This record gives sequence, structure tokens and C-alpha cells, in this order.
Amino acid sequence: MSADQEIKVYILDLGKLECDENWMVAMSTSGNKHHKNVLSHWIEIPVYAVLIDHPDGKMIFDLGCHPQANEGYWCEGLVNTFPFTFTENQRLEHQLALLNISPEDISTVILSHMHLDHIGNIHLFKHADVYVSRKEFEYAQTIVHASPDPNKHGAYVKADIEVPVKQYHLIDDDTELFAGIEFISLTGHTAGLFGLVIHLKNEGVLIFPMDAIYNQTVFGPPAKAAGLIYDSIAFFKSIEKVRQLAKKYNAQVMFPHDMEMFEKMKKAPDYYC
Ligand SMILES: [Zn+2]
Repeated sequence: MSADQEIKVYILDLGKLECDENWMVAMSTSGNKHHKNVLSHWIEIPVYAVLIDHPDGKMIFDLGCHPQANEGYWCEGLVNTFPFTFTENQRLEHQLALLNISPEDISTVILSHMHLDHIGNIHLFKHADVYVSRKEFEYAQTIVHASPDPNKHGAYVKADIEVPVKQYHLIDDDTELFAGIEFISLTGHTAGLFGLVIHLKNEGVLIFPMDAIYNQTVFGPPAKAAGLIYDSIAFFKSIEKVRQLAKKYNAQVMFPHDMEMFEKMKKAPDYYC
């Protein structure tokens, strides 16, 4: 890949989820004989998308949550476990408007995985080419169609998975999707999660592992288990893959759901380049 590509990376703030910290870091609260009834630690985590202004066009990596999540779009179990809050300014359309663009200006969507907080605005991109891992696509299709009960769909929302797009491009292996944009397999959190490695001219390399590594605590070292894992052996291998890449490129690892890190990130209209 060429380091002289003019790529700009914008972090789009799409609101926050609340949840029990044990979803982020397994066993983060646990009892002992003196404290048998331990209270959960209830936290807020950021939700964001990554807009990439690339010589080949504008692209978006992940899509946040559906704006009607709490009005029946998500089932009650999901709303209770992961309450979603956002301001009008944190709607995806408003975040794009900060850059004077609209969803129609973006013809390429890249998805790390198809969970509810990463695909939720797919309805705005029916005109787009969408890149996602084949394993993720197949697993998501299977789980939302195997039962009509949304409580059996894990963190997938059937309506998200069924939105028709121009074309789904199903990716099997690590690949350079566009110049300077590597799509790398980081399976474990889900059946087919992929992350992005973005090579910038001035600020070096950014790695977006998305939910392969929720936050700094999961990354460690030592790595820690998250509360939601599809394949625990693959999960830890993927963390070490990111650690090796970060070392190789002296890269910044941009965690998806780490509020402390998110507060320090440059956010649109500011950018990395
Ligand atoms: Zn997530």
C-alpha cells in the first residue's frame, strides 16, 4: 500500500449504550464470602462510526444503532440489557452533516460485524456496496431465521439483517480492500468479525479492532475475556494478532467501547490524516 494516499478518518459520535460492566469485561464484579450479594457496576459505553474520506470515494466503517431502538425496533430484552441513548446531534445524518455530506454521498459500507450497535443505520445505505465477512453474514442470516423469537437472536436484529442493499461483498480472508485500508479477520467475539487497519500519511497507522477488543482492560496485557464470546480460543488469538500488528506498525489501537479513550479521540469535524 502507498503511504502517500490522502486518507482522512473521521470519528462520528453516535450516542451511547448503558450496560452491566460484566458484558465488557467478564467477572469484573464477583462475590466472595464477605460480599455475597455483589451489585453490578452499571456503565456507559460509546457507539461510533468511522467515516473514511479516501481517493476512491467516501466510505463508512460500522453504522451504530437504529434510531428507533427503544421504540420497538429492538426487542424488550435488548432494550433492558443495553439501553441506547443519543441526542439529535448524535444521529448519523447529523454527524455526516458536520462534514457537509449525506448518506447518499457514501457508496461503500464496511461492517466489522452485524451486531445491533454496528449495523443499525443500514437502512440509510440501500444504495451502497457493503463489505462484511462471509462467516459473519452467514451466521447472522442463520440465527435471525432459525427462530421467530427475537430473544433467541443474540445481539442480531432481524430487521437490520434483512435490509436490502445494492450488493453484499462477502470476504473470506485478510485483504487490502482499498489502497491503505486493510480488512483483517479478528474472529472470536462473533463467528466472523473483521477489523480495519488504516495507513495514514501523517499520523501513522490506526487499527480499529471493533468488538474483537472492547476496551483497554480487555486488551491488557494481559488480555481479558469479554462477557460475550462466540469462540474463546479465537478471541484471544485475535487480540494477540492486533498486539503484533500494533507493534509492527507502531499503530494506535482505537477501541470501540472505551469511554475513557473515546473522550480523548478526535471527533468529527476534526480528523486523523
Ligand atoms: Zn459493539
